[in-house]
Amino acid sequence: MAQHLICLTIDTDPDGLNTHDPDRRTLTWDGLHFAMQYFHTVLPHIPLTWYVRADGQLEQAYGSARYLLDKYADFWRKAIRRGDELGWHPHLYTLDAQPQLITDSAQAVAELARIWHNIQDTAFNLPTFRMGEAWHTTETLTVLAEMGFTVDSTAIPQRDDSASGHPRNWSGTPNHPYFPAQHDIRMPAAIDNIAPPTQRILEVPMNSWYIQASYDAAPKLRYMNPCIHRDLWQQGLVWWDANLPNHDLHVWNLILHPTEAMPHEKSDLLYAYSLDVLQENLAQLLERIEKRGDSATYVTLSHAAQHWRQKPYLT
Ligand SMILES: [Zn+2]
Repeated sequence: MAQHLICLTIDTDPDGLNTHDPDRRTLTWDGLHFAMQYFHTVLPHIPLTWYVRADGQLEQAYGSARYLLDKYADFWRKAIRRGDELGWHPHLYTLDAQPQLITDSAQAVAELARIWHNIQDTAFNLPTFRMGEAWHTTETLTVLAEMGFTVDSTAIPQRDDSASGHPRNWSGTPNHPYFPAQHDIRMPAAIDNIAPPTQRILEVPMNSWYIQASYDAAPKLRYMNPCIHRDLWQQGLVWWDANLPNHDLHVWNLILHPTEAMPHEKSDLLYAYSLDVLQENLAQLLERIEKRGDSATYVTLSHAAQHWRQKPYLT
């Protein structure tokens, strides 16, 4: 019987950032307000991992990179009391009128160090990290380890957008946690090089799978987002079942953005924009796991990482 740890992670990006055609200037937070109002009620037994935006864009707009951490401190405290956890989620942009993604590794390292200096005295523990727009280099991952992070959750296994000039390239990355190799962070380190594992940064990827929305010419690799329509989630689960690794421990790192669960006036062919569908999709995953005779537990990202560290042979 295998054990499945399910992490429900929420990136607190502004509304409308994570679309086919992202607008990096957007700074409205209706989705976050919605999530703060409803998620604890509709997901009562699920510890949530909130990746809170804290970066130069917020610093420029609101005068502090810690804007969301400070403004919603009461909510975060309440969330932590119920078992949620917070993580750091910076998007590294230039501060132009039309923000561009910083793609230079040295510049990104300097920006991470600068923001970290401004937020590290926050009252909140930020045990894990997720880079905005899902990319890393050896240098950006190394600077996080130097800051004391032991868990990163940025990779989207097999996703490669390098053809468009984006630094996101996770081709060859396994669809489960691993200790990144120094020479190529997309790949697991050789097992001999993982000593002592407690000190290595563990990558807990957002899991990916193949689904075909009505506008896709073929099944497309996407991260496991429980806000998609029921039939698409079912498609994903079929792929999931067929591609389950032969492990005795599984971590399922699901990711959503608050607006994807919020009702919209205009419908979407990928996202259901429905709390009912979110609940139902999660229940379907649990049902699949139980049907296999396995056990499932919801945990925060750092807890899943702790469990995995006890089984480093699973690299
Ligand atoms: Zn983000």
